[in-house]
Amino acid sequence: MKIGIAGIAGRMGQLLAEEAVAAGFTVVGGVDRAPAPGAVMFADIAALAAAADVVVDFTHASTALAHAAAVAEAGCAWVLGTTGLDAGQEAAVAAAGRRTAVVYAPNYSPGVVLLAALAERLGAALPADSYDAEIVEMHHRQKVDAPSGTAVALGRAVAKGRGVRLEDVTDSGRGGHTGARRTGAIGFAALRGGQVVGEHTLIFAAAHEQIALSHRAFDRRAFATGAIRAAGWVRGRPAGLYGMLDVLGMTTQA
Ligand code: NAD
Repeated sequence: MKIGIAGIAGRMGQLLAEEAVAAGFTVVGGVDRAPAPGAVMFADIAALAAAADVVVDFTHASTALAHAAAVAEAGCAWVLGTTGLDAGQEAAVAAAGRRTAVVYAPNYSPGVVLLAALAERLGAALPADSYDAEIVEMHHRQKVDAPSGTAVALGRAVAKGRGVRLEDVTDSGRGGHTGARRTGAIGFAALRGGQVVGEHTLIFAAAHEQIALSHRAFDRRAFATGAIRAAGWVRGRPAGLYGMLDVLGMTTQA
């Protein structure tokens, strides 16, 4: 299988090239604004899409419209990892998914994807009035936002399982005299320090038992191996917009 990498000079791009080779795929080359020593550089995304079976794309949201058009035109499968897309850019991704096979996921770590799926099921199974849901996350000292996007996604999954909107029940950044815990709230706590890549723990605490599920990312390579797994899965699929749950075989059958 021939893989092309958009953003091949970037932090993810370099890991993706290594992981694609480790998985036994052929890396035909890539596109990037920056040079990528040792890699075959294509003139543009259209040329890359014409030469590859699957384009794995971890670049910048500003590329989404052009890349969506190019993969759709070439009929090349597309594994998109770029984050921060606005509504118009996401619409272009969805449009590409009507013409070719597209996997689009905000987090390609299989562990996080499965944790979110479990979070929704636990949210549905454990009554909100007796099981208090709390999410604790820790990241490196350079991180500028809190709670993390993954923590919010876990909270959203619990809320979905409970049939509520996270915005209506979120409880973030407690301090001072907060009063007693609100029944049904989904709480967040963010720890910052050192070089922690990403740790998330989802807790359901009741009067007589407590469940805690934890995920730790040691390395960004977890995203690269997940994305290459998605590339192996998506090749030859019918046109459609898929997510990591599809890749992992966890999609609920209708
Ligand atoms: P990075 O800045 O190290 O790499 C991005 C690369 O894309 C750079 O080499 C840059 O030159 C290139 N690029 C930017 N604009 C381009 C353009 N117009 N044409 C060609 N190349 C262009 O960043 P990164 O850490 O590798 O992350 C890249 C993207 O992937 C970000 O959006 C990041 O949030 C996302 N990401 C997603 C996941 C996931 O699991 N979905 C995991 C990690 C990172």
